[in-house]
Amino acid sequence: MSKDFFTSCEICPRRCGANRRAGETGACRVGADPVLARAGLHAWEEPCLSGTRGSGTVFFSGCSLGCVYCQNARIAGGEVGHPVSPSRLADIFLELEAAGAHNVNLVTPTHFAPLLSEVIPLARSRGLTLPIVYNSGGYERVETLRALAGLIDVYLPDFKYADAALAARYSSAPDYPEVARAALAEMIAQQPTPVLDGDGLLQRGVIVRHLLLPGAYRNSHDVVKYLATLRHAVYISLMSQYTPMAGVSSRFPELSERVRDKDYRRLVAYAVRLGIERAYVQEGGAAEESFIPAFDLTGVLPKE
Ligand code: SF4
Repeated sequence: MSKDFFTSCEICPRRCGANRRAGETGACRVGADPVLARAGLHAWEEPCLSGTRGSGTVFFSGCSLGCVYCQNARIAGGEVGHPVSPSRLADIFLELEAAGAHNVNLVTPTHFAPLLSEVIPLARSRGLTLPIVYNSGGYERVETLRALAGLIDVYLPDFKYADAALAARYSSAPDYPEVARAALAEMIAQQPTPVLDGDGLLQRGVIVRHLLLPGAYRNSHDVVKYLATLRHAVYISLMSQYTPMAGVSSRFPELSERVRDKDYRRLVAYAVRLGIERAYVQEGGAAEESFIPAFDLTGVLPKE
C-alpha cells in the first residue's frame, strides 16, 4: 500500500504534520481532497503558454506560501472553491483540451502534489495529450518534485526572493532563497532543455517568473543575478504587474504603491547586461486587476 501523504503532511517545506484526512489543516489551509476555484482558458500567461487559444488553467484553492501581497488571496486562503474527486479532476483536464487549451496549467498545486501521480496518468489513459504545466510559488520540497518526474512537462515556478529577510517579512519563509534554489535545480534536472513546437508553444522546459515588488529593487537585482547563471536552461519572465490589494497597506505601508516604471526598466536593462536573452518582459499597463480571473467555480462542476 502506498504512503498516504495527507495523514501527517510534509508535502511542502512547511512540514506542518497536519492530518489533512482528519480535517486538520496546516499553513495551506485545505484538507486532502483537491479544491478548485476555477478551470478555464486563460490568455494572460506567457505567449508560449497562452498561444492563440489560451492556457488551460486549473486554479487550486489554498496555498502553502501565503504571501501578504497575494493577488489571489481569497483562493489562497481556501475561502472559495469546491472539492472534486481525482476522477473529476482528470475529466476537467480533458474538458480543457476539448475547449482548445494549449496545455493544462496547474496553478498553485503544491499542497495537492501527491494526487497528481494518480490524476495525470488517469487523464492520459482517457486520452489527454496536452503538456502539463506545474505553476507554483517556487517553494517546494525536492522530494515532492522527484515524485512527479516524468509527469510534468513544463515547470513554471516563481523565484520571489533572494533576500531571506524579505521572504520572512512577506511570506513567513526565511528559508525561501535556499529552498527555491534547490527546487529549481530539480526542475531543471527533470526538464533540462526547453522544447517549442512549430507554433512557438512550449512543450517541455522551465520558465521562471519574478515579480518586482515596490521598494524591493535590490532583491530583484539579486534574483536576476542568480537567474542569469541559469539562462541557458530556462526562460525568465520578469513581471511588473504587482497590484496593491486592499488591507495590505496598514501592515506593510511600502506595499501600497505600484512598482515604479523606472525600477522595472532598470531591472530589464540589468538582465540584458547579464546576457539573459530568453526572457519575457511586460509592457506598460500590465498591472490592471482585470487580469485576475473570477474565481466563480467556472469549469469545476460537471455539466448537467
Ligand atoms: S502542504 Fe499544507 S499541511 Fe502540508 S506541509 Fe505544506 S502547508 Fe503544511
